[in-house]
Amino acid sequence: MLTVRNLRVRYGRSVSALHGIDLDVPDDGVLAVLGSNGAGKSTLLRAISGTLGLHRGSVVGGEIHYDGKRLDKLDPAAIVRQGIVGVPEGRQIFARMSVAENLRAGGIGARSPTERAAASRRVHELFPVLTDRAGQRAGLLSGGEQQMLAIGRALMSSPRLLLLDEPSLGLAPKIVERISAIIRDIHEQGTAVVLVEQNAVMALGVADHAAVLEVGTLALAAPARELAESEDVQRLYLGGH
Ligand code: ATP
Repeated sequence: MLTVRNLRVRYGRSVSALHGIDLDVPDDGVLAVLGSNGAGKSTLLRAISGTLGLHRGSVVGGEIHYDGKRLDKLDPAAIVRQGIVGVPEGRQIFARMSVAENLRAGGIGARSPTERAAASRRVHELFPVLTDRAGQRAGLLSGGEQQMLAIGRALMSSPRLLLLDEPSLGLAPKIVERISAIIRDIHEQGTAVVLVEQNAVMALGVADHAAVLEVGTLALAAPARELAESEDVQRLYLGGH
């Protein structure tokens, strides 16, 4: 279980992005984190993956624990070794490298060659297209394929918890459906997922649990099904009236 306690994040003096978030991320299942633009969803993922240091002037308060171990003092590589891997918004694949090289880069942190081989098998089973395109430059893949590569690269280190930031962004509905099905498969294979999405319909369709952020605070946390049926959520996020 990952626990976030009184998490506060500022960017420089003027921007307070999170004002004291308390959140439990269960070990199994998919947790959807919803909220409108600027609510602090990406900031939450950055805090968990330890990557806020890459953002100038960020200041973090509060605590994050995973399996009883304090995470918020660790650097990003040490957090990956704890089994937590993020796929940032915009994918950030290595565009000039081949698909196979991108995947190899993701496997660098594997604990053993056996683990790396098993992870590689799993990635190629989940994403046959990455096998077909192994030698191709990653920057030439379609948007959906690049998203699959970004997820595949993260899975190469056999995470126990995968953090996905807006995987549906800019993708056609058919590809979004495909990514949703893959997220379910990843979860069924034993990896917990935190799914940050503006596409609430997609996110609530695959999630077991859901949390809603509103300008830096946690507005709601409930089973995904309950949220999908809530009139407020329908009105605010699902295009209902
Ligand atoms: P989006 O869906 O637009 O990415 P979000 O819910 O993920 O939104 P964040 O990106 O976490 O929200 O942003 C939360 C707040 O922090 C916003 O006011 C945003 O402008 C600000 N912010 C985010 N990143 C930075 C940064 N690197 N420097 C300064 N301010 C930032």
